[in-house]
Amino acid sequence: MKVGFVSLGCPKNLVDSEVMMGQLAAHGHELTAKPDEADVIVVNTCSFIDPAKQESVETILEMAEYKKTGVAKKLIVAGCLVERYRNDIQKDIPEVDHVIGTNEIETIASLCGPADEAVEANPLAPYLYHDLTPRLLATPRHHAYIKIAEGCDHPCSFCIIPQFRGAFRSRRFESVIAEATRLFSQGVREINLIGQDTTCYGEDLGLKDGLALLLERLAQIETPQEKWVRFLYAYPNRVTQKLLDTIAEWPSLVKYIDMPLQHASANVLKRMKRGAHGDIFLKLLERIRKTIPGVAIRTSFIVGFPGETEQDFEELCAFVKAAQLDRVGVFTYSDEETSKSFHLDGKVDKRTIHNRKRKLMAVQRRISAARNKKMIGQEVEVLLEGPSQETEMLWEARMRSQAPEIDGVCYINDDNGTVMKPGQMRRMVISEAHDYDLVGGLIDEAPQDVKVANAPLFPILTSSPEATRQRL
Ligand code: SF4
Repeated sequence: MKVGFVSLGCPKNLVDSEVMMGQLAAHGHELTAKPDEADVIVVNTCSFIDPAKQESVETILEMAEYKKTGVAKKLIVAGCLVERYRNDIQKDIPEVDHVIGTNEIETIASLCGPADEAVEANPLAPYLYHDLTPRLLATPRHHAYIKIAEGCDHPCSFCIIPQFRGAFRSRRFESVIAEATRLFSQGVREINLIGQDTTCYGEDLGLKDGLALLLERLAQIETPQEKWVRFLYAYPNRVTQKLLDTIAEWPSLVKYIDMPLQHASANVLKRMKRGAHGDIFLKLLERIRKTIPGVAIRTSFIVGFPGETEQDFEELCAFVKAAQLDRVGVFTYSDEETSKSFHLDGKVDKRTIHNRKRKLMAVQRRISAARNKKMIGQEVEVLLEGPSQETEMLWEARMRSQAPEIDGVCYINDDNGTVMKPGQMRRMVISEAHDYDLVGGLIDEAPQDVKVANAPLFPILTSSPEATRQRL
């Protein structure tokens, strides 16, 4: 069968899509990026908040049209929307032929074949892929995500992810090392470790400071070229001194901490069942910056949480001004009917929520612009991504302090008379600074190409998390 794939939501969902594509290819199915040519279309959905649910339903209906206009005979819906609304999807969208949840992704190939060959999986049996699981990369060849754990045990009252991703479970240590070693040998230069909470890694395996131990081993992997290793989604009270010391010690561990704080007011954090408050976070930031000089810190906040007063919000704005963070994402509170916070009083009206988002983003935009301005004239190392989507005159690249898809980028306006290739690590001098992005020219010679093993790659239709965020 020719199978078309659409992947929505976060990088964790993208890895699930890559595993499903690996399964399909391993069973001889062909993948296509053109839905009008596909015999079967798979939509891997997201549903953690309203806008994401809307996008998933719109995309399912859009792909269903190809059963009328294209050659598609089957439409399969996978992912987090299925975990929440399995029966509703089957009842309300008759164009959908099969639904598979996040624990059933290894059945995808059988659903694309004749009906009598379809195999069932127990939707409640916790699933987590491993290093021998067939997987096709949907990211550009030079960077890849590795999911090191699934599920979450934290009780955050606004979050419903544990309801459909299940309890926290880590991948085996050696399985992650084996997968990373293979990816580096296939030309991947940057690996981003992901999970709902990466800082809990290994706790269920009896490991103390499991993430630090994993990072140390990853840093020691022999690679044909320089490599970057980053982890995303740290939980604040799990950021240990051992973890920080490990990042500081190994050059290939990028000096970057992504740590959603969600708020800074003790009152709101208590209602979120996350605890702590701004002063504790400022001390943590101070410890992080003292241990890892030049570290870039990213976080995200929720505004409009039930019971958030104007004073709480002002406290959050004051915290952001004091914290001087490098990257900040701002979410508007989404009142999910199965979340604990759904039952809280003090709901904030929509207009106020959006005004608070706008105000907080304006506070951070000024901070980001000022921090970027200080970088003019600096020489930095960048990973080349390729021709810019925005303008073909420029190439895009990222510094170590810029994670893929969620942070700003560096635009290259001068190739120094050299041949640029995606995945090259080059040196540039910054000549221009904008609110989130930087501009500059290369100053070095192009590196020798290094022979790498062939990597199973397949570009798919995605809506980037940043695009999803734009819609938030
Ligand atoms: S840590 Fe993240 S995934 Fe886990 S419950 Fe909290 S917000 Fe949800």
